[in-house]
Amino acid sequence: MTRTGAAPGAAAARTALADAAPAVYWLDDPARPEALPPLSGHAAADLVVVGGGYTGLWTALLARQRHPGRSVLLLEADVCGSQASGRNGGFAAASLTHGFSNGMERWPDELARLDRLGVENLTEIGRTVADLGIDCGWEQTGELTVATAAHQLTELTELAGEMRSAGHDVEMLDAEATRARLDSPTYLGALSDPHGTALVEPARLAWGLRRACRDAGVTVHEGTRVTGLSKAGGGVRLTTDGADGPGTVTAGRVALATNAFPPLLRRLRLMTVPVYDYVLMTEPLSAEQRAAIGWAGREGVGDAANQFHYYRLTRDGRILWGGYDAIYHYGSRIDRTLEQRDATHRLLAAHFFTTFPQLEGLRFTHRWGGVIDTCTRFSAFFGRALDGRAAYALGYTGLGVAASRFGAQVMLDHLDGADTERTRLRMVRQRPLPFPPEPARSAGVALTRWSLDRADRHDGRRNAWLRMLDRLGMGFDS
Ligand SMILES: Cc1cc2nc3c(=O)[nH]c(=O)nc-3n(C[C@H](O)[C@H](O)[C@H](O)COP(=O)(O)OP(=O)(O)OC[C@H]3O[C@@H](n4cnc5c(N)ncnc54)[C@H](O)[C@@H]3O)c2cc1C
Repeated sequence: MTRTGAAPGAAAARTALADAAPAVYWLDDPARPEALPPLSGHAAADLVVVGGGYTGLWTALLARQRHPGRSVLLLEADVCGSQASGRNGGFAAASLTHGFSNGMERWPDELARLDRLGVENLTEIGRTVADLGIDCGWEQTGELTVATAAHQLTELTELAGEMRSAGHDVEMLDAEATRARLDSPTYLGALSDPHGTALVEPARLAWGLRRACRDAGVTVHEGTRVTGLSKAGGGVRLTTDGADGPGTVTAGRVALATNAFPPLLRRLRLMTVPVYDYVLMTEPLSAEQRAAIGWAGREGVGDAANQFHYYRLTRDGRILWGGYDAIYHYGSRIDRTLEQRDATHRLLAAHFFTTFPQLEGLRFTHRWGGVIDTCTRFSAFFGRALDGRAAYALGYTGLGVAASRFGAQVMLDHLDGADTERTRLRMVRQRPLPFPPEPARSAGVALTRWSLDRADRHDGRRNAWLRMLDRLGMGFDS
């Protein structure tokens, strides 16, 4: 795609954004449940789960299924699903490794197993959604990865060959076949993966899981931040802070599912960086606008650049359009005010009209951002602390919608002290390299982003800095 910061689409972009609410479309939903009361005073549970996004919610739900006799308490600083889990693109991918290529580079010998576990994981999510009657628009649409530059077409063709050799049912589409699915003048071809991705309405999934947890006997307190944890007796003592003041909790075991937020364990402080990813939502397309682009298969779509866009249709025929910029703030800052970023939203809107010039005149109704937990290997890592009484799963980077259920299973295996197919994986046993502390961290991120942008503009050629990171197995992505 032509990168058009201030180019032809800029005026159209400004107009299209004029009335966009600075709000998360998925959370702006009458189905949003009431917040649950914070914890006050003291509580005790066999398992305490910290964080009420998908990772925490799956952990709590699966824990009750594994050990019905054990009590589970979930503590969420805000409301369940209000962070990444309620504001993402809703691409539920089978891949546990942030895509096939990343998995192939890091764990070629166990990729077949990881891919099988990923497919089973995605199937189980779909089954749970159906069994529990969670109304979250679960659609097995598959995904198109589109090439908008010649070198991307070459790379995707190679990738399709590798994926087919590994047993994936994928195919390459030429420009004409791609445009017959979804019409953009920027498309040169696409890799079609009809089975690897389902689409979901993210917040509805989180709310459905919260309901399922409560139905299964999990106690959930929202508006309750955990401020510390330490060993006490044979278990763990947690301190909390909420609207009703400080509290304490005695736990047998603790599962940490805090994603991009400051980790409660010192050893994890350099392992992830919070990166802001931004999204736009259009108004529903008219029948004519829809006819102008096609998209009968409703596939999730991403482009193949380093700095990529992802986009999809909603139930009522809007287009969600996100990605491209991945913004890190000095000192790993996380702040509500960072969820809006005019420059990025304008750039995204301009790219939208470069991709779909037929839709000029379409307006955006919502604009937002959210924070992801980037780690240097782009896929979740796992571990135990406090003599095995605590476990964590973090670092999904931008692909945790489905992988978070796998992360929950690994945490429960670890807390049970169980030796399973999952815990034996190298991917589970190995940790990524940490990020350096500031100021090297933000300098490194800035240099990497600049280099990735340059590679996108120069036929994908990676400079010496990116090649060095490749050799170290480190990177920066969203
Ligand atoms: C804009 C955006 C688009 C994305 N698009 C996709 C996509 O299309 N597909 C995909 O696979 N992934 C996507 N992701 C990533 C995906 O959303 C996440 O990987 C996934 O939701 C992670 O779930 P989680 O439960 O680990 O984290 P979260 O949903 O962030 O949940 C962590 C929770 O922990 C709580 N918490 C933190 N600290 C404490 C504490 N001390 N005490 C109590 N509670 C605490 C937080 O309030 C939060 O609710 C996207 C992310 C963003 C931001």
